[in-house]
Amino acid sequence: MSDTVLETENVAVTYTGERRVEAVKGIDLSFPENRLTAIIGPSGCGKSTYLKALDRLHDIQPNVEVTGEVYLRGEPVYDTDEPAPELRRRIGYVPQDPTPLPLSIYENVAYGLRIHGLHDSTEDLDNRVERYLRQVDLWDEVADRLDSPAAGLSTGQIQRLCLARSLAVEPDVLLCDEVTSALDPISAENVEETLASLAEEYTIVMVTHSMDQARRLADEVAFFYLGEVVEANDVRSFFEDPEHERTKRFISGPGTPDTIDPDTTSVEPETSADDVVDGATDSEAPATERT
Ligand code: ADP
Repeated sequence: MSDTVLETENVAVTYTGERRVEAVKGIDLSFPENRLTAIIGPSGCGKSTYLKALDRLHDIQPNVEVTGEVYLRGEPVYDTDEPAPELRRRIGYVPQDPTPLPLSIYENVAYGLRIHGLHDSTEDLDNRVERYLRQVDLWDEVADRLDSPAAGLSTGQIQRLCLARSLAVEPDVLLCDEVTSALDPISAENVEETLASLAEEYTIVMVTHSMDQARRLADEVAFFYLGEVVEANDVRSFFEDPEHERTKRFISGPGTPDTIDPDTTSVEPETSADDVVDGATDSEAPATERT
């Protein structure tokens, strides 16, 4: 039985701008150590909003209310005096479209190590930069140009560099928000392979709209619908023996992934590069929900 690294108790998030949107409606979930949990569900169902709440990323935005509590190794993430930079070191977050620091490839990884004092010497720093670039399968591609600007890398390489940057500061858990969906199919496949190898030794929570990707990578799956968790289970039980009717419809429905607006529950198709990693669009896309 794995230990729980991160868990949420009744986490709710409401956008309170021009339009009030209850994006996440009181979610209890726990994320076990050294397991990859995929959060899946139609677009607009609160997956990204929930992921950001795990890392207090809504704190820096106006017009967002977060209630409930997140626990990192049993300690509260919201009701705490721990400074935000230290929390965000322990809970790494990689967005869909990451931006490298305007520094060299080397410095993008070394920066966090310097800030958090996670090295003993220049040699140790060099070794750590190499270790994390190898861990994301980037070392062989960049070893001869470590001092070049990171901005010169391809989008897929930047995505892997940002993964290395997050891992270098030794997080307890890594949050990945649709990290392959903005990539071309080859880059998406490379990043997915990297995630598969990282999943063996890290605790990862990954939002994806691709059920094929969830099947390939996940140990655990949580299915979100309209801001709530319909079903959460180990990957085999989830796909082979789903409990809820809505889950069954979601995993067996035809067509492409849905976009759902909670106000109207209107449905629009959405596809992106990682649907076609295998050369075909996701075949198990959600059934159209009309309520
Ligand atoms: P998902 O990740 O499942 O696609 P999101 O978390 O992005 O869903 O969005 C959930 C709901 O919150 C959607 O209705 C979306 O339009 C709304 N939403 C997301 N971000 C904002 C924001 N910054 N302001 C207002 N509404 C938002």
